Amino acid sequence: MSILHSVENNLEIIQKNIRDVCGKANRSPDEIQIIAVTKYVSVERAEEAVTSGVKHLGENRDDGLLKKWESISNKATWHFIGTLQSKKVKRIIDKVDYIHSLDRESLAEEIHKRTEKTVKCFIQVNVSGEDSKHGLPREEVLGFVQKLKAYPSIEVVGLMTMAPYTEDEAEIRKCFRDLKALQGQIQEMNLPYAPCKEMSMGMSNDYKIAIEEGATFIRIGSALVGNEQ
Ligand SMILES: *Cc1c(COP(=O)(O)O)cnc(C)c1O
Repeated sequence: MSILHSVENNLEIIQKNIRDVCGKANRSPDEIQIIAVTKYVSVERAEEAVTSGVKHLGENRDDGLLKKWESISNKATWHFIGTLQSKKVKRIIDKVDYIHSLDRESLAEEIHKRTEKTVKCFIQVNVSGEDSKHGLPREEVLGFVQKLKAYPSIEVVGLMTMAPYTEDEAEIRKCFRDLKALQGQIQEMNLPYAPCKEMSMGMSNDYKIAIEEGATFIRIGSALVGNEQ
C-alpha cells in the first residue's frame, strides 16, 4: 500500500504541473477546473479535499455520491462521472451540478422527467471505439445533439471522454484531439441548448496531455485524493 500524502500536498503538485503545461501550451491555468474523484476514498478524505481548496467533487456511483453529499452538501460542486442507469437518476438529480455521462436518449428523457432545473451535461463519447468503453460512438454524436432539443432540461455544456488505457502517448493525444474536433462541429451547429464550451478529459495519468489538447475539466482521483481500497 502506498503512503497517502495530504490532499493539500498533492494539490500543490498538480497545480504546479497545470501551470507548467499551460505555460507551454499558451493557456491560462484559470481555464482548468480540477475535479477530485473521490470514488475510492472515505467521506473524511473527500472533506479533506474540500478544506484543502478543491471546489469540484466527482463520484461514479449513486451510493458514493449520496453518502458524501450528506456531509459536504453545498460546500462543493458535484459531478456525476460514471455510467448512469436511468432508474438511478431520481436519487441523484437534485444533488448534482454536472452529469458527465450522457450517452443515450432514454437517459436524457429520464433526466428531463425528474427535474425542473437545467442540468449541465457532458456527452460522453467513446472516441477510441474500444468495446470496453462507455459512451456514444463518435459518428452518432451530432445526430444525438440534435435530438436533445426535445429535452429542455438538458444543457450540453461539453464533451467527455476517457482515453484508451495505454502507454502510447500518441494514441492518448489523438483521442483528446478527436474529441476537440468534435466539439468544434457541435459549436458550429449554433444550438442555444448546446454551447459545448467545456472539455472533460484527463485523469491522473494523462491530464497533462489533456490540458495540451484543450481540457477544461480534469478528473483526478489517485494522484489527488489517492485510493484507499
Ligand atoms: C475513476 C475515474 C477517474 C479518476 O481516475 P484516476 O486515474 O484515479 O485519476 C476519472 N474519470 C472517471 C470517469 C473515472 O471513473
